[in-house]
Amino acid sequence: MSNGEANVEEAYEASAPWDAARPDTLVISCSDGRWRASTQEFVEHHLSAASHADQVMVPGGIEPLTLLDLLPKDFNFLRRRLETLVETHGTRRIVAIAHEDCGWYRRRRVGPVAVDLRERQLLDLKRAAARLRSMFPDVVVETWYARLSDAPTPHVVFEKV
Ligand SMILES: [Zn+2]
Repeated sequence: MSNGEANVEEAYEASAPWDAARPDTLVISCSDGRWRASTQEFVEHHLSAASHADQVMVPGGIEPLTLLDLLPKDFNFLRRRLETLVETHGTRRIVAIAHEDCGWYRRRRVGPVAVDLRERQLLDLKRAAARLRSMFPDVVVETWYARLSDAPTPHVVFEKV
């Protein structure tokens, strides 16, 4: 009402209480919303990170961190934001997650040869983790791959890689 909000057309007050504590964990993952609920559960229940752990979600996840030579603009876009985030939030732990059937990786597959995308993603996770460790020597970096389990109903399984 006050504070210069006269031009607000619509507002919604969330019921979730505000938690001002800075989480010490940052999760970098793909934007694909189908994996979000499982990832949230994994982060809270398995990693024992705060429910409001920081998140950077871009299509393809950490992939820009592997592009220093190919697409330095993409690399630097993510690098600058991660540097600022880690510095201002005091991040202690970075969790990078790739996932099966990633649309970004399928679209960016190079050449007509059917490449094993999982292998490619695991390699990228390794390269990105090495980059993150050199950028942030005091931060623990870990990498995970999310895949679908088999029948009867698919669930997401997180494998440390
Ligand atoms: Zn994806």
